[in-house]
Amino acid sequence: MIVEPKIRGFICTTAHPEGCAAHVASQIALVKGRGPIASGPKKVLVVGSSTGYGLSSRIAAAFGCGAATIGVFFEKPAEEKRTGTAGWYNSAAFEKEATAAGLYARSFNGDAFSNEMKREVIEAIKADLGQVDCVIYSLASPRRVHPDSGEVLKSVLKPIGQTYTNKNLNTTTKVVDSVTIEPANDDEIAQTTAVMGGEDWEMWIKALHEAGVLSPGVTTVAYSYIGPEVTWPIYKNGTIGRAKEDLERAQRALDEALAPLGGKAWVSVNKALVTQASSAIPVVPLYISLLYKIMKAKGSHEDTIEQMDRLFRDRLCNGQPQPDEAGRIRLDDWEMTPEVQSEIDELWAKVDTENLLSLADVEGYETSFLRLFGFGLAGVDYAAETDPNVRVPSLG
Ligand code: NAD
Repeated sequence: MIVEPKIRGFICTTAHPEGCAAHVASQIALVKGRGPIASGPKKVLVVGSSTGYGLSSRIAAAFGCGAATIGVFFEKPAEEKRTGTAGWYNSAAFEKEATAAGLYARSFNGDAFSNEMKREVIEAIKADLGQVDCVIYSLASPRRVHPDSGEVLKSVLKPIGQTYTNKNLNTTTKVVDSVTIEPANDDEIAQTTAVMGGEDWEMWIKALHEAGVLSPGVTTVAYSYIGPEVTWPIYKNGTIGRAKEDLERAQRALDEALAPLGGKAWVSVNKALVTQASSAIPVVPLYISLLYKIMKAKGSHEDTIEQMDRLFRDRLCNGQPQPDEAGRIRLDDWEMTPEVQSEIDELWAKVDTENLLSLADVEGYETSFLRLFGFGLAGVDYAAETDPNVRVPSLG
């Protein structure tokens, strides 16, 4: 099969196996190039490990800290006429590279929200690792089947309390238009919190704790975003922001629950980056395009792998987490500097369809988006036939 990108709105329905492998290899090379991370965790569970921040966390843990990793994700292998998903190919490539480097790597493909998945992972930890010393929680999902009630919960990206109108980039047509989003009702707020808030993180940690598979001094980290005022109505003060507040509630509860083990729960506020999850949020792609332009010019641009390498190297493992006043790790520190944000304010007011390509890094946005699906990687022959049927070794 010759695999080309097929973009539908904010998703790409194809993924390139060798391209995804090259993307994973480039992330591994970056971490290895920075040298080993001293005092890192050695047995790490990553929930949501196949793409975006979770994949980069797994890579930083394995290739920076030398950790054995268990990864949980929800991906699809190839079918007759369809390629597998990018996360499937990423996980296959990660496992191969980890095994070649002598690192244990095992993956689970299925619903992380379910009790069954938690049980399976606990059995694997007991059998293979005994305990884990770090749990990264990096799920981003539009829905969750609640494991107790069976209710199907859906997350929405809406403002709360008032209608929100702002500039928006149509990433297909490159037109800067305007988007108006009606406020969420109470049920939508509750459902989004149930999907993207802290309940499932707590359920994971409780299940792992009760099974005795968390080692003394265990660390767990979940990811959040705050961002600039221009996105607050749709992000920080919207339904997703409400869910992230619940994540912080869960962090405080987990800190208490883990105290007897000498453990610690963190929320890490990460930078806005192109991922499968963030490209679906209105207004955010335009913000990211402007941000990339500014941060690349300043030499402070990072992708998920630089962020996650910095999380382990300069926050979690060196005893200097540098928490903010609310106790959160801030990897969005460079994004949120007053210099960067005042430039954002200036450009945001000016940007329109005519000046878009000069003010914003639209090309960088597109390149990053395509790389998520394995397209545009150096050294990959995209004109050549490729076999979409790739095995994730530990999945058989
Ligand atoms: P992503 O879409 O790249 O990754 C989501 C991961 O969750 C994938 O591994 C996917 O397989 C997995 N997943 C989804 N539903 C699942 C299910 N039911 N069972 C098992 N696995 C499932 O997303 P991302 O952007 O890396 O987001 C990860 C976290 O980082 C989220 O909490 C997000 O809010 C946060 N974050 C993202 C950004 C950003 O700009 N992208 C910034 C700050 C924080």
